[in-house]
Amino acid sequence: MAFDRFGRNIHYLRISLTDHCNLRCVYCMPEDMTFRPRAELMQDEEIFLLTRLFAELGFDKIRLTGGEPTVRANIVGIVHEIAHTPGIRSVTMTTNGVLLKKLARPLAEAGLQRVNVSLDTLQAAKFKRITRWGDVEDVWEGILAAEEAGLTPIKLNAVVVRGYNEEDVVDLARLTLEHPWQVRFIEMMPFAGATELQTSHVVTAAQIQERIERVFGLLEPANGGELDGEARLFRIPGAQGELGFISSVTQPFCASCTRARLTADGRLRLCLLREREVDLLTPLRQGASLEELRQLILDGIWHKPWGHGLAEGLIPLNRTMSQIGG
Ligand code: SAM
Ligand code: SF4
Repeated sequence: MAFDRFGRNIHYLRISLTDHCNLRCVYCMPEDMTFRPRAELMQDEEIFLLTRLFAELGFDKIRLTGGEPTVRANIVGIVHEIAHTPGIRSVTMTTNGVLLKKLARPLAEAGLQRVNVSLDTLQAAKFKRITRWGDVEDVWEGILAAEEAGLTPIKLNAVVVRGYNEEDVVDLARLTLEHPWQVRFIEMMPFAGATELQTSHVVTAAQIQERIERVFGLLEPANGGELDGEARLFRIPGAQGELGFISSVTQPFCASCTRARLTADGRLRLCLLREREVDLLTPLRQGASLEELRQLILDGIWHKPWGHGLAEGLIPLNRTMSQIGG
């Protein structure tokens, strides 16, 4: 098992399969984003080898992300291989949902267990403004296809941005009345690429909750008050689904963090909001032994930072969100 020096057992790996994306969300990347050449990204076999190493070190939970993981070539084959790696108990994906209509079933058959789909508004014009390129209808069809394919419970992620979608949290919350989904509201975090917007347009989880409670009344705590990953869970009285609030900026959950990230270019990123990374891909390509790679991972995990430094004004600027893997 892999522990950091604070005694946290790190066993959840988010693997970014690509930094490429078919959308250009304003809070994630600039519209004229340039992507890494394919040769700089981990090849399928490199991903599988590193997954096996992490699994041997006790990692049992994998989330595939990006960029947009569904635009990666051979995504179904990649999911199948990772899901059948000894020691891996759960494989999930965070996706913008645009391609799920056709991919949900093959992904489920390959071993994917659940999806988190990003959806910031139900309104077509606002969706286009936020994602620059997207059609909300594609995402909606993708969500229904995911549910149909059994990728459940469905979780929807909404980043709330002042001046873009703060009123839409009410309609998104209303979805839980009729659907057994978890709708999660995320405080926007600052990275490279859109730092000005990310710092000046934050809506806090408390403000989001207040807006929802003005319409639906006081929310009931769900999940016995326990965090679900990073989300504090509530329910509109009588609703089928739940609401989650992810307050990474105003109320970080660093003490219970169990995760590490592998970027699409093969760097082990110890904290989303800290620049520190350990390069695994270069040594792998230079012929490092499995034992050497294992040691690099264990040393990296040991030195995982306690938490982020946003309160002290420390913003990670070496990558955009899409280059890290959210
Ligand atoms: N493309 C996929 C998607 O959008 O779901 C996966 C990658 S995306 C980087 C992962 C998650 O990060 C999404 O839910 C997205 O909304 C969120 N995200 C992107 N930029 C963010 C930011 N600046 N602050 C908070 N969350 C952000
Ligand atoms: Fe693409 Fe996801 Fe970033 Fe939007 S949030 S630009 S869908 S990677």
